[in-house]
Amino acid sequence: MPSVLIIGGGPAGLSAAIYAVRSGIQTTVTYKDGGALDKTDKIENYFGFTDVISGPELLARGQAQAKRLGAQLVQTEVTGVEYAEKGFTVKTTAGEFTADAVILATGAPRATPPIPGVRELEGRGVSYCAVCDAFFYRGKAVAVLGEGEYALEEARTLLPVAASVTLLTGGTPAPGNLPEGLHVDERPVAAVEGEDKVARVTFHTGDPLAVDGVFIAYGTAGSGDFARKLGAQLDGNKIQVGEDGATAVPGLFAAGDCTGGLLQVAKAVSDGAQAAMSAIKFVRKA
Ligand SMILES: Cc1cc2nc3c(=O)[nH]c(=O)nc-3n(C[C@H](O)[C@H](O)[C@H](O)COP(=O)(O)OP(=O)(O)OC[C@H]3O[C@@H](n4cnc5c(N)ncnc54)[C@H](O)[C@@H]3O)c2cc1C
Repeated sequence: MPSVLIIGGGPAGLSAAIYAVRSGIQTTVTYKDGGALDKTDKIENYFGFTDVISGPELLARGQAQAKRLGAQLVQTEVTGVEYAEKGFTVKTTAGEFTADAVILATGAPRATPPIPGVRELEGRGVSYCAVCDAFFYRGKAVAVLGEGEYALEEARTLLPVAASVTLLTGGTPAPGNLPEGLHVDERPVAAVEGEDKVARVTFHTGDPLAVDGVFIAYGTAGSGDFARKLGAQLDGNKIQVGEDGATAVPGLFAAGDCTGGLLQVAKAVSDGAQAAMSAIKFVRKA
């Protein structure tokens, strides 16, 4: 049976799941948590609710609806998406999944960390994509800024290529499952510095760490990170999609806040439905 995997279990991802599963496609939703709706106290501008509804209640209803229709909901963190022989392999903390098409729906893009030098040196030693840029750091010293599973995944990509890889957790205790050969420094980072390109990271203690590259991988990977790695177009951190929800990468679709525009439930639900319809068409032809 053709399959679609959706990354994100907010209104965009769940709406996509409802449309995909009702068309007879094997549908899996991977989601880390309740996303933006979990932080929303009251919603009173969504169609059909005469009374105010809370974000968590609306989310629970969407989850129950998708499950009742037959979608598989898996609570896990996605750390990477790669091309497979046919379709995609999605790496998660609960193992790997394969799918003929993927819909990205991880919510609002992440902000760039407010560390001086990061924005200024983007593309000149500051990178957001180890798979894309590791090659440029063959035999060089690099740092990964981050503290979770996503940062470790970026470090694993860099370790076989770079001369040294240091995980900079910025004051957070390092995770337990460190890959072999990875150095760790838990001190908070004050700045990324260099003249034309990255030359060092400076800690709040004033100590420098000489590096040629800095890979940003805070928190959880978002749709933008996955899209960038697969070669889709981005406008800043927003994924560029056509009216049909398709990215420039065959079989890869995006929906909801991660595509920008109106950051509202109504738009996320509409986007999810559209991306699912396009994904259905794609997997039936594939
Ligand atoms: C405080 C607040 C109040 C709001 N009030 C309103 C309102 O009144 N009306 C309204 O219409 N809208 C409101 N919104 C906006 C609305 O909540 C969002 O527009 C909507 O939830 C976007 O849906 P989404 O599915 O794109 O993303 P989200 O709802 O953010 O869902 C993102 C999903 O992706 C998952 N995810 C992210 N990264 C990963 C990963 N690496 N692996 C696995 N899963 C991942 C998350 O766990 C989550 O399930 C509000 C938002 C906030 C924050």
